[in-house]
Amino acid sequence: AKQAGKNRAQPYAPHMQADALARVHLEADLRIAVEQRAFELHYQPIVECASGALVGAEALIRWRHPERGMISPLEFIPVAEECGLIVPIGEWVLSEVVRQRRDWLARGYPLLRLTLNVSGVQFREAGLPELVRTLLAEGGTARGSLVFEITESVLMSGNDENVEARMCDIKEQGICFALDDFGTGFSSLSYLKRFPVDIVKIDRSFVRDCPDDGNDASLVEAIINMAHSLGLRVTAEGVESAEQREFLRALGCDYLQGYLIGKPLAADAFEAIMAPLPSV
Ligand code: C2E
Ligand code: CA
Ligand code: CA
Ligand code: CA
Repeated sequence: AKQAGKNRAQPYAPHMQADALARVHLEADLRIAVEQRAFELHYQPIVECASGALVGAEALIRWRHPERGMISPLEFIPVAEECGLIVPIGEWVLSEVVRQRRDWLARGYPLLRLTLNVSGVQFREAGLPELVRTLLAEGGTARGSLVFEITESVLMSGNDENVEARMCDIKEQGICFALDDFGTGFSSLSYLKRFPVDIVKIDRSFVRDCPDDGNDASLVEAIINMAHSLGLRVTAEGVESAEQREFLRALGCDYLQGYLIGKPLAADAFEAIMAPLPSV
Protein backbone atom coordinates (compact mmCIF):
# COMPACT_ATOMS: atom_id res chain seq x y z
CA ALA A 1 0.00 0.00 0.00
CA LYS A 2 1.05 3.55 -0.58
CA GLN A 3 2.66 5.23 2.38
CA ALA A 4 0.36 7.94 3.63
CA GLY A 5 1.80 11.26 4.74
CA LYS A 6 1.48 12.02 8.42
CA ASN A 7 -1.15 14.69 7.94
CA ARG A 8 -3.07 13.03 5.19
CA ALA A 9 -6.50 11.92 6.25
CA GLN A 10 -7.65 8.45 5.22
CA PRO A 11 -11.36 8.66 5.82
CA TYR A 12 -12.37 5.58 3.87
CA ALA A 13 -9.93 2.88 4.89
CA PRO A 14 -11.16 2.22 8.46
CA HIS A 15 -14.76 2.22 7.31
CA MET A 16 -14.07 -0.26 4.55
CA GLN A 17 -12.19 -2.52 6.92
CA ALA A 18 -15.13 -2.54 9.31
CA ASP A 19 -17.50 -3.43 6.47
CA ALA A 20 -15.23 -6.19 5.23
CA LEU A 21 -14.90 -7.57 8.74
CA ALA A 22 -18.65 -7.53 9.35
CA ARG A 23 -19.07 -9.36 6.07
CA VAL A 24 -16.52 -12.04 7.05
CA HIS A 25 -18.34 -12.54 10.36
CA LEU A 26 -21.71 -12.77 8.64
CA GLU A 27 -20.41 -15.37 6.21
CA ALA A 28 -18.85 -17.43 9.03
CA ASP A 29 -22.09 -17.28 11.05
CA LEU A 30 -24.08 -18.21 7.97
CA ARG A 31 -21.91 -21.27 7.43
CA ILE A 32 -22.72 -22.44 10.97
CA ALA A 33 -26.39 -21.62 10.48
CA VAL A 34 -26.48 -23.85 7.39
CA GLU A 35 -24.95 -26.75 9.36
CA GLN A 36 -27.36 -26.23 12.23
CA ARG A 37 -30.37 -25.50 10.01
CA ALA A 38 -31.01 -22.30 11.96
CA PHE A 39 -33.64 -21.12 9.50
CA GLU A 40 -37.38 -21.12 9.41
CA LEU A 41 -39.95 -20.40 6.76
CA HIS A 42 -42.75 -17.92 7.20
CA TYR A 43 -45.80 -18.10 4.97
CA GLN A 44 -47.50 -15.03 3.52
CA PRO A 45 -51.08 -15.59 2.31
CA ILE A 46 -52.06 -15.14 -1.34
CA VAL A 47 -55.76 -14.70 -2.11
CA GLU A 48 -57.85 -14.84 -5.22
CA CYS A 49 -58.61 -11.24 -6.13
CA ALA A 50 -62.23 -11.69 -7.17
CA SER A 51 -63.42 -13.77 -4.20
CA GLY A 52 -60.86 -13.05 -1.48
CA ALA A 53 -60.45 -16.82 -1.00
CA LEU A 54 -57.11 -18.07 0.31
CA VAL A 55 -55.42 -19.96 -2.53
CA GLY A 56 -51.75 -20.03 -1.60
CA ALA A 57 -48.77 -18.72 0.29
CA GLU A 58 -45.26 -17.54 -0.41
CA ALA A 59 -42.58 -19.19 1.74
CA LEU A 60 -40.09 -16.58 2.98
CA ILE A 61 -36.92 -17.55 4.81
CA ARG A 62 -35.91 -16.22 8.24
CA TRP A 63 -32.59 -16.72 10.03
CA ARG A 64 -32.62 -17.13 13.80
CA HIS A 65 -29.22 -15.68 14.74
CA PRO A 66 -28.08 -16.64 18.28
CA GLU A 67 -27.11 -13.05 19.21
CA ARG A 68 -28.78 -10.81 16.68
CA GLY A 69 -32.23 -12.41 16.62
CA MET A 70 -34.12 -12.72 13.35
CA ILE A 71 -32.10 -11.56 10.36
CA SER A 72 -33.88 -10.46 7.20
CA PRO A 73 -33.27 -12.33 3.96
CA LEU A 74 -32.51 -8.94 2.39
CA GLU A 75 -29.31 -8.95 4.47
CA PHE A 76 -28.11 -12.53 4.15
CA ILE A 77 -29.42 -13.86 0.82
CA PRO A 78 -27.08 -11.60 -1.24
CA VAL A 79 -24.14 -12.78 0.90
CA ALA A 80 -25.23 -16.41 0.52
CA GLU A 81 -25.43 -15.93 -3.24
CA GLU A 82 -21.91 -14.57 -3.42
CA CYS A 83 -20.27 -17.25 -1.30
CA GLY A 84 -22.24 -20.20 -2.72
CA LEU A 85 -24.10 -21.01 0.52
CA ILE A 86 -27.32 -20.21 -1.34
CA VAL A 87 -27.17 -23.73 -2.80
CA PRO A 88 -27.53 -25.64 0.49
CA ILE A 89 -29.89 -22.94 1.80
CA GLY A 90 -32.07 -23.18 -1.31
CA GLU A 91 -32.10 -26.96 -1.03
CA TRP A 92 -33.25 -26.67 2.55
CA VAL A 93 -36.03 -24.24 1.57
CA LEU A 94 -37.27 -26.56 -1.16
CA SER A 95 -37.19 -29.67 1.01
CA GLU A 96 -38.88 -27.83 3.88
CA VAL A 97 -41.70 -26.54 1.64
CA VAL A 98 -42.25 -30.05 0.24
CA ARG A 99 -42.23 -31.48 3.77
CA GLN A 100 -44.62 -28.81 5.06
CA ARG A 101 -46.99 -29.30 2.12
CA ARG A 102 -47.07 -33.05 2.74
CA ASP A 103 -47.61 -32.52 6.47
CA TRP A 104 -50.51 -30.09 5.89
CA LEU A 105 -52.14 -32.49 3.43
CA ALA A 106 -51.75 -35.42 5.81
CA ARG A 107 -53.41 -33.38 8.57
CA GLY A 108 -56.41 -32.49 6.43
CA TYR A 109 -55.56 -28.92 5.44
CA PRO A 110 -56.56 -27.82 1.94
CA LEU A 111 -54.07 -28.12 -0.91
CA LEU A 112 -52.78 -24.58 -1.28
CA ARG A 113 -50.38 -23.36 -3.93
CA LEU A 114 -47.05 -22.86 -2.17
CA THR A 115 -44.53 -20.58 -3.82
CA LEU A 116 -40.84 -20.33 -3.02
CA ASN A 117 -37.97 -18.16 -4.19
CA VAL A 118 -35.32 -19.85 -6.31
CA SER A 119 -32.15 -17.83 -6.77
CA GLY A 120 -30.25 -17.79 -10.04
CA VAL A 121 -27.32 -19.71 -8.61
CA GLN A 122 -29.68 -22.44 -7.41
CA PHE A 123 -31.59 -22.52 -10.69
CA ARG A 124 -28.35 -23.12 -12.62
CA GLU A 125 -27.16 -25.89 -10.27
CA ALA A 126 -26.88 -29.09 -12.28
CA GLY A 127 -28.66 -31.15 -9.62
CA LEU A 128 -31.86 -29.08 -9.27
CA PRO A 129 -34.23 -31.10 -11.52
CA GLU A 130 -33.00 -34.32 -9.92
CA LEU A 131 -33.46 -32.88 -6.42
CA VAL A 132 -37.04 -31.91 -7.31
CA ARG A 133 -37.67 -35.43 -8.60
CA THR A 134 -36.26 -37.02 -5.47
CA LEU A 135 -38.15 -34.76 -3.08
CA LEU A 136 -41.45 -35.30 -4.88
CA ALA A 137 -40.89 -39.02 -5.43
CA GLU A 138 -43.08 -40.21 -2.56
CA GLY A 139 -46.03 -37.91 -3.18
CA GLY A 140 -46.03 -37.91 -7.00
CA THR A 141 -45.87 -34.66 -8.97
CA ALA A 142 -46.72 -31.26 -7.54
CA ARG A 143 -49.83 -31.05 -9.78
CA GLY A 144 -49.49 -27.28 -10.13
CA SER A 145 -49.46 -26.66 -6.39
CA LEU A 146 -45.77 -25.74 -6.15
CA VAL A 147 -44.45 -22.58 -7.75
CA PHE A 148 -40.85 -21.54 -8.25
CA GLU A 149 -40.44 -17.76 -8.21
CA ILE A 150 -37.54 -16.65 -10.35
CA THR A 151 -36.46 -13.19 -11.46
CA GLU A 152 -35.74 -11.92 -14.91
CA SER A 153 -32.00 -12.14 -14.29
CA VAL A 154 -32.36 -15.93 -14.15
CA LEU A 155 -33.85 -15.95 -17.65
CA MET A 156 -31.09 -13.63 -18.86
CA SER A 157 -28.39 -15.76 -17.32
CA GLY A 158 -27.32 -17.92 -20.17
CA ASN A 159 -28.09 -19.78 -23.29
CA ASP A 160 -31.86 -19.50 -23.86
CA GLU A 161 -32.25 -23.11 -24.94
CA ASN A 162 -30.55 -24.37 -21.78
CA VAL A 163 -32.68 -22.19 -19.53
CA GLU A 164 -35.85 -23.24 -21.33
CA ALA A 165 -34.92 -26.92 -21.25
CA ARG A 166 -34.28 -26.70 -17.53
CA MET A 167 -37.61 -24.99 -16.93
CA CYS A 168 -39.42 -27.65 -18.95
CA ASP A 169 -37.64 -30.43 -17.08
CA ILE A 170 -38.82 -28.95 -13.77
CA LYS A 171 -42.32 -28.23 -15.12
CA GLU A 172 -42.69 -31.91 -15.97
CA GLN A 173 -42.77 -32.51 -12.20
CA GLY A 174 -45.92 -30.38 -12.02
CA ILE A 175 -44.13 -27.22 -10.87
CA CYS A 176 -45.15 -23.78 -12.17
CA PHE A 177 -42.98 -20.73 -12.65
CA ALA A 178 -43.71 -17.20 -11.53
CA LEU A 179 -41.69 -14.23 -12.74
CA ASP A 180 -40.96 -12.26 -9.55
CA ASP A 181 -40.51 -8.49 -9.20
CA PHE A 182 -41.98 -8.04 -12.64
CA GLY A 183 -41.40 -4.65 -14.23
CA THR A 184 -38.16 -3.85 -12.41
CA GLY A 185 -35.99 -5.29 -15.19
CA PHE A 186 -35.64 -3.83 -18.65
CA SER A 187 -36.71 -6.40 -21.19
CA SER A 188 -39.38 -8.32 -19.35
CA LEU A 189 -41.90 -8.38 -22.17
CA SER A 190 -39.83 -10.52 -24.49
CA TYR A 191 -39.09 -12.98 -21.68
CA LEU A 192 -42.77 -13.57 -21.07
CA LYS A 193 -43.18 -14.62 -24.65
CA ARG A 194 -39.94 -16.58 -24.83
CA PHE A 195 -40.08 -18.72 -21.67
CA PRO A 196 -42.73 -21.04 -20.20
CA VAL A 197 -43.74 -18.76 -17.34
CA ASP A 198 -47.19 -19.27 -15.75
CA ILE A 199 -47.59 -16.35 -13.37
CA VAL A 200 -46.36 -12.75 -13.32
CA LYS A 201 -45.84 -11.00 -9.99
CA ILE A 202 -46.14 -7.23 -10.30
CA ASP A 203 -43.46 -5.67 -8.14
CA ARG A 204 -44.48 -3.81 -5.01
CA SER A 205 -42.89 -0.59 -6.27
CA PHE A 206 -45.59 -0.29 -8.96
CA VAL A 207 -48.48 -1.17 -6.67
CA ARG A 208 -47.38 1.18 -3.89
CA ASP A 209 -48.64 4.46 -5.41
CA CYS A 210 -51.70 3.02 -7.14
CA PRO A 211 -54.24 4.24 -7.95
CA ASP A 212 -53.20 7.86 -7.20
CA ASP A 213 -50.12 7.91 -9.38
CA GLY A 214 -51.44 7.90 -12.94
CA ASN A 215 -48.24 6.50 -14.46
CA ASP A 216 -48.06 3.57 -12.07
CA ALA A 217 -51.78 2.91 -12.49
CA SER A 218 -51.40 2.79 -16.28
CA LEU A 219 -48.38 0.51 -16.01
CA VAL A 220 -50.17 -1.92 -13.72
CA GLU A 221 -53.16 -1.98 -16.04
CA ALA A 222 -50.90 -2.59 -19.05
CA ILE A 223 -49.03 -5.43 -17.32
CA ILE A 224 -52.29 -7.16 -16.34
CA ASN A 225 -53.78 -6.85 -19.84
CA MET A 226 -50.60 -7.98 -21.54
CA ALA A 227 -50.12 -10.96 -19.22
CA HIS A 228 -53.74 -12.00 -19.76
CA SER A 229 -53.40 -11.73 -23.52
CA LEU A 230 -50.46 -14.15 -23.26
CA GLY A 231 -52.55 -16.55 -21.17
CA LEU A 232 -50.69 -15.83 -17.92
CA ARG A 233 -52.07 -15.10 -14.50
CA VAL A 234 -51.10 -12.08 -12.43
CA THR A 235 -50.31 -11.64 -8.72
CA ALA A 236 -49.98 -8.12 -7.34
CA GLU A 237 -47.40 -7.81 -4.57
CA GLY A 238 -47.34 -5.35 -1.67
CA VAL A 239 -51.07 -4.66 -1.52
CA GLU A 240 -51.47 -2.53 1.60
CA SER A 241 -54.78 -0.67 1.21
CA ALA A 242 -58.40 -1.48 0.41
CA GLU A 243 -58.19 1.17 -2.30
CA GLN A 244 -55.38 -0.73 -4.03
CA ARG A 245 -57.36 -3.95 -3.73
CA GLU A 246 -60.44 -2.43 -5.35
CA PHE A 247 -58.34 -0.89 -8.10
CA LEU A 248 -56.69 -4.25 -8.87
CA ARG A 249 -60.03 -6.04 -8.69
CA ALA A 250 -61.51 -3.65 -11.26
CA LEU A 251 -58.59 -4.42 -13.59
CA GLY A 252 -59.18 -8.16 -13.31
CA CYS A 253 -55.95 -8.97 -11.45
CA ASP A 254 -55.95 -12.67 -10.47
CA TYR A 255 -54.22 -12.83 -7.08
CA LEU A 256 -53.29 -10.44 -4.29
CA GLN A 257 -50.45 -10.56 -1.77
CA GLY A 258 -49.51 -7.92 0.80
CA TYR A 259 -49.92 -6.65 4.34
CA LEU A 260 -53.61 -5.83 3.73
CA ILE A 261 -54.22 -9.55 3.18
CA GLY A 262 -51.71 -10.73 5.76
CA LYS A 263 -48.08 -10.56 6.84
CA PRO A 264 -45.77 -13.57 6.61
CA LEU A 265 -46.57 -15.96 9.49
CA ALA A 266 -44.80 -18.88 11.15
CA ALA A 267 -46.22 -22.23 10.01
CA ASP A 268 -48.39 -22.79 13.09
CA ALA A 269 -49.88 -19.30 12.90
CA PHE A 270 -50.55 -19.82 9.20
CA GLU A 271 -52.49 -23.00 10.01
CA ALA A 272 -54.98 -20.89 11.95
CA ILE A 273 -55.71 -18.89 8.77
CA MET A 274 -56.11 -21.98 6.60
CA ALA A 275 -58.76 -23.47 8.81
CA PRO A 276 -59.95 -21.36 11.72
CA LEU A 277 -60.51 -23.73 14.64
CA PRO A 278 -63.97 -23.60 16.21
CA SER A 279 -63.81 -21.85 19.56
CA VAL A 280 -64.21 -24.21 22.48
P1 C2E B 1 -39.70 -11.01 -2.51
O1 C2E B 1 -39.57 -12.36 -3.12
O2 C2E B 1 -40.08 -9.89 -3.41
O3 C2E B 1 -40.70 -11.18 -1.29
C1 C2E B 1 -41.62 -10.21 -0.89
C2 C2E B 1 -41.10 -9.38 0.25
O4 C2E B 1 -41.99 -8.29 0.45
C3 C2E B 1 -41.04 -10.13 1.58
O5 C2E B 1 -39.96 -9.60 2.33
C4 C2E B 1 -42.38 -9.73 2.21
O6 C2E B 1 -42.39 -9.86 3.61
C5 C2E B 1 -42.48 -8.30 1.78
N1 C2E B 1 -43.87 -7.84 1.71
C6 C2E B 1 -44.96 -8.57 1.42
N2 C2E B 1 -46.07 -7.82 1.42
C7 C2E B 1 -45.68 -6.56 1.71
C8 C2E B 1 -46.38 -5.30 1.85
O7 C2E B 1 -47.60 -5.21 1.73
N3 C2E B 1 -45.62 -4.21 2.15
C9 C2E B 1 -44.28 -4.27 2.30
N4 C2E B 1 -43.62 -3.15 2.60
N5 C2E B 1 -43.58 -5.44 2.18
C10 C2E B 1 -44.28 -6.56 1.88
P2 C2E B 1 -38.89 -10.56 3.02
O8 C2E B 1 -39.55 -11.75 3.62
O9 C2E B 1 -38.06 -9.69 3.91
O10 C2E B 1 -38.01 -11.08 1.82
C11 C2E B 1 -37.20 -10.19 1.10
C12 C2E B 1 -36.62 -10.85 -0.12
O11 C2E B 1 -35.69 -11.87 0.24
C13 C2E B 1 -37.64 -11.55 -1.00
O12 C2E B 1 -38.29 -10.59 -1.81
C14 C2E B 1 -36.76 -12.50 -1.78
O13 C2E B 1 -36.13 -11.84 -2.85
C15 C2E B 1 -35.70 -12.86 -0.75
N6 C2E B 1 -36.04 -14.17 -0.13
C16 C2E B 1 -36.88 -14.44 0.90
N7 C2E B 1 -36.92 -15.76 1.14
C17 C2E B 1 -36.08 -16.36 0.25
C18 C2E B 1 -35.69 -17.71 -0.01
O14 C2E B 1 -36.16 -18.69 0.64
N8 C2E B 1 -34.79 -17.94 -1.01
C19 C2E B 1 -34.28 -16.89 -1.76
N9 C2E B 1 -33.39 -17.18 -2.74
N10 C2E B 1 -34.63 -15.61 -1.54
C20 C2E B 1 -35.53 -15.34 -0.55
CA1 CA C 1 -40.81 -13.71 -4.22
CA1 CA D 1 -41.29 -10.03 -5.33
CA1 CA E 1 -38.13 -8.25 -4.32
